[in-house]
Amino acid sequence: MRLAELEKVTYPETVAEAVRILAEGKDRAMALSGGVSFVFAPLKSVEQLVCLSRLPLSYVREEKGGLRIGAVTPVADLAASPAAGRYGGGILRQVARRIGSTLNRNLITVGGNLVQPFIWSDLPTVALAFSASMVIQGPKGRRTLKAEKFFSRMPKQVLKEGELLTEVVFPPLEKNSRTAFEQFSLTEVDFAYLKTAVRLSRSGKKCLDLAIVIGSATILPQRLEEAEGVLRGRTANQVLVNEASEVAAEELKIKRDIRCSEDYKRDLARAQVRGILERILLDQKVPEWKLF
Ligand SMILES: Cc1cc2nc3c(=O)[nH]c(=O)nc-3n(C[C@H](O)[C@H](O)[C@H](O)COP(=O)(O)OP(=O)(O)OC[C@H]3O[C@@H](n4cnc5c(N)ncnc54)[C@H](O)[C@@H]3O)c2cc1C
Repeated sequence: MRLAELEKVTYPETVAEAVRILAEGKDRAMALSGGVSFVFAPLKSVEQLVCLSRLPLSYVREEKGGLRIGAVTPVADLAASPAAGRYGGGILRQVARRIGSTLNRNLITVGGNLVQPFIWSDLPTVALAFSASMVIQGPKGRRTLKAEKFFSRMPKQVLKEGELLTEVVFPPLEKNSRTAFEQFSLTEVDFAYLKTAVRLSRSGKKCLDLAIVIGSATILPQRLEEAEGVLRGRTANQVLVNEASEVAAEELKIKRDIRCSEDYKRDLARAQVRGILERILLDQKVPEWKLF
């Protein structure tokens, strides 16, 4: 972390005050949430850090079948939250429990994890699969963006000057919806080579709607719409599931990873998508992919 230019750290107690300080500071002021990303992304020319820890934005609340999560909630709290455990089969808890180490999880916040994705980031993949909404507060008021828009570019480019992500809203799930998240890593603490989140609603074996999202192939999570199109509105069977997983592996964009080849990631994508769909759409007893 390069702090040579740092002159001031402020601890606003309201969102309005934090937004005002950030807007006045322009690109010389920066929000600090868990502060963990500063290990990887050096601070250049930042004169003021605006610490978000005193904002009333640390909570996980159930609301009308959905979930509202404050941006400053540590992922350790998300991992322990009973409300998160009841939503979407407990995927958010499952994912939060595997982020970094215990020490990291106490620091890393939900908002920081979403605003600054890295190739290993977990929550963006899940937020996109659930089509979560991002509540953003800025000097000109409040706006809400769907995850599709928020992750269409690096979120820091999507946020305007002085804007803060204040809350993430996971929508109520349709009846008969099923969800799954799977990641593959060589050890339990290593970050994943690839991860897949699927959310679908079904009537019997008919797939009414679905979202297939893969993370860690590129920095931003990818929704695989061609693969989704193979199954949406159709009665699923093994042939269609195989076809959807093949299409998913083909349409996936892959950024170079020194740990494995592009083909290896495509094989992982195919296997993860197929395994999840066999489990949650065809009701087969397929074990999760694990090497450790
Ligand atoms: C050893 C290690 C292992 C890790 N493993 C994983 C892993 O397996 N999976 C995973 O997902 N993550 C992992 N991480 C964490 C990840 O790399 C990021 O560092 C972390 O998510 C950042 O969260 P933060 O709360 O610390 O955000 P910060 O570092 O405080 O902020 C990140 C960026 O977002 C901005 N920002 C933060 N909050 C807001 C907000 N509310 N509104 C607007 N802008 C905001 C900040 O200005 C900053 O630019 C790991 C980190 C470490 C150090």
